[in-house]
Amino acid sequence: MTGLAKYQRVLFGVGVRNTVADEVRRLGCSRALILSTPPKSSSALDLAAALNDMSAGVFSRAAMHTPVEVTEDALRHVQEINADCIVAIGGGSTTGLGKAIAHRTGLPQIVIPTTYAGSEATPILGQTEDGVKTTLTDRKVLPEVILYDPELVATLPVGMTVTSALNAMAHAAEALYARDKSEDSNQLAIDGLTSFVKSLPKVLQDPEDLAAREETQRGAWACGAVLGRVGMALHHKLCHTLGGSFDLPHAETHAIILPHAIHYNAQAVPGLLAPLTDLLGGSSPGMALWQFAKSMGAPLALRVLGLQVQDLDRVVEIATRNPYWNPREVTADGIRALLEKAWTGEAPGP
Ligand code: NAD
Repeated sequence: MTGLAKYQRVLFGVGVRNTVADEVRRLGCSRALILSTPPKSSSALDLAAALNDMSAGVFSRAAMHTPVEVTEDALRHVQEINADCIVAIGGGSTTGLGKAIAHRTGLPQIVIPTTYAGSEATPILGQTEDGVKTTLTDRKVLPEVILYDPELVATLPVGMTVTSALNAMAHAAEALYARDKSEDSNQLAIDGLTSFVKSLPKVLQDPEDLAAREETQRGAWACGAVLGRVGMALHHKLCHTLGGSFDLPHAETHAIILPHAIHYNAQAVPGLLAPLTDLLGGSSPGMALWQFAKSMGAPLALRVLGLQVQDLDRVVEIATRNPYWNPREVTADGIRALLEKAWTGEAPGP
């Protein structure tokens, strides 16, 4: 085990969520606060039943982008019930709330992921205050335990399965050209991409194929872990802009932008992106990703998410306002051309 992995206990397997009581005890805890989003509250209540007298309460108001006011309500609850650990069941939004609580209290966390976002594998916390999303990195927010149970992602609708998988793959794709990449991070990125490329078609054929679902979760962990180790670039900047300032949905936005951002950067670093064409075929990494996304039925056009064509100028302005590292120079004209194709849903290149 290298890097942050040694600080986490990561378990995979059908039914592994049922070991949650053992994991709470293992942490030396006995009063868990269970977190979920409103639609996943029944899963939170099931966990409370499984934890029995080790469940101190359920808070089912996790929301996208971790609003600070929700965190403050949850913190009041933590104090009232004297919780000594967090159990988060859900996607990146629920994990985000658990991390926000851990950042402020130091409470240990057990995360039971139900999407492929990968937040559970990173020490990164994103949170929103007064409409502005900021991120911080803090070892304290890295969850102590992750329980990857394939039965929980088997309920992900096919559309969400695909967009969430592409969201995870985006972390690994950008890791391939990260400025601070290493041999280890490169291998982790390739492992994550390989898991998804192999298992996603099987999952689409049979969404309840639990072996294939487990492989996607192994991919989610690897893609999340690499996101926690190296810096991201253009793709994440564009998605952050579209999510933060235009309220576009997280996973879908990643799915649409990824082929275009990779196509843009492939002009500068084709060799570093070669693992994508090795896995997906073809000679252009951006085109290979676009074809893969299309064949999986992913959304391809930002206009379908409700972005107006007249918003593109503002997206360009925000995304190019503050300089940041990217393997290819970020120019307003280049980003405008990229976004026009992503808006209409055209292929990124010839
Ligand atoms: P999400 O957690 O917001 O979930 C989206 C919706 O899907 C919610 O309504 C949820 O209740 C529902 N859902 C979740 N699992 C389901 C399932 N198995 N079946 C049916 N419905 C289900 O979405 P997400 O894409 O997992 O997470 C996005 C958030 O995570 C963003 O805020 C993003 O910034 C954050 N994120 C953070 C990091 C990090 O390292 N900090 C990494 C990746 C993502």
